[in-house]
Amino acid sequence: MRISIQEACQLLDNGDVVAVPTETVYGLAAKASDTNAIAKIFDLKKRPANNPLIVHLSDASQLNDYAKALPKDALKLCDTFWPGPLTLVLEIHLQSIPETARAGLPTVAFRAPQHPLAREIIDAIGPIVAPSANVSGRPSATLPEHVEDDFGKGFPVVDGGSCKTGVESTILLHTHSRWQIVRLGALPADAFTDTLGYTPTIAPTTQSDTIVCPGRLHRHYAPKALLHLHENAYDGSIPVVLGFDDRSYPGANAVLSLGNPQHPEQALARLYATLRQLDALGATDVWVDAKFPSEGLWKTLRERLSRASQAQHTP
Ligand code: AMP
Ligand code: MG
Repeated sequence: MRISIQEACQLLDNGDVVAVPTETVYGLAAKASDTNAIAKIFDLKKRPANNPLIVHLSDASQLNDYAKALPKDALKLCDTFWPGPLTLVLEIHLQSIPETARAGLPTVAFRAPQHPLAREIIDAIGPIVAPSANVSGRPSATLPEHVEDDFGKGFPVVDGGSCKTGVESTILLHTHSRWQIVRLGALPADAFTDTLGYTPTIAPTTQSDTIVCPGRLHRHYAPKALLHLHENAYDGSIPVVLGFDDRSYPGANAVLSLGNPQHPEQALARLYATLRQLDALGATDVWVDAKFPSEGLWKTLRERLSRASQAQHTP
């Protein structure tokens, strides 16, 4: 059910959960201070309780309400990339965010979204939590229809059309005097080089036995079909192909394209909608053309496809 911004704000103020567009993906929003609404999010998404939520702010000045001392270059990163698809994990004053939203961690992940409708909502009602508006494990939602597919036609959605970026934010964590990437996303590693004076590396899954980004442990982004990633030429072994424009897949029955093979942004923007289309086709197995570079945003695409391919087959 499509709702206006005013209706969304009213519902959120009343402790309800609504879907809102951001430039990355649609978010399932609740007020960041509302413990009951936060519980509804975990329930609706069937999200494991140990997977914390991202708090969405209007701007960096709101960090003062939550964060303890900010690590070196945190504000510089905010100045450069906010509003936008960068998330920073920061130590917080524990009482400032409900324990369930942060999955019991002493830190919280923050970002300021760029999408005007998301910003309007946050400006009106204050910070929100907004994990992707899909059932946990499924491809993220980049269209209102995706939200309705997962949560039903009656679910309240603010319609912002198709998400421009289409893939989640990049998450940085400051550890051992450096920023590290704990989730690849819409900003590639070298986007930070000028701001930081070094290029952040990808953090290992655990550090000193602590899990650095709990979401990395969970199944993610997966269609029902099994994805088989190939870097060699198409061999006809699987009739459904997820590929690129201007490439030939002789003998394939159905080819879904991620777009121009020179443009990783386009592939990322189309990725989740295309994975959902594979389900609509009823595909059980898909030959994925993974012949593309491993640098920059291609690395994000490869990571998402690998994660999606790890899912178990659910016919
Ligand atoms: P999403 O479901 O796309 O909103 O993603 C939220 C991601 O942020 C999950 O993968 C979480 O693990 C990660 N995240 C949230 N809070 C923290 C935190 N305090 N420390 C590390 N990662 C976090
Ligand atoms: Mg998600």
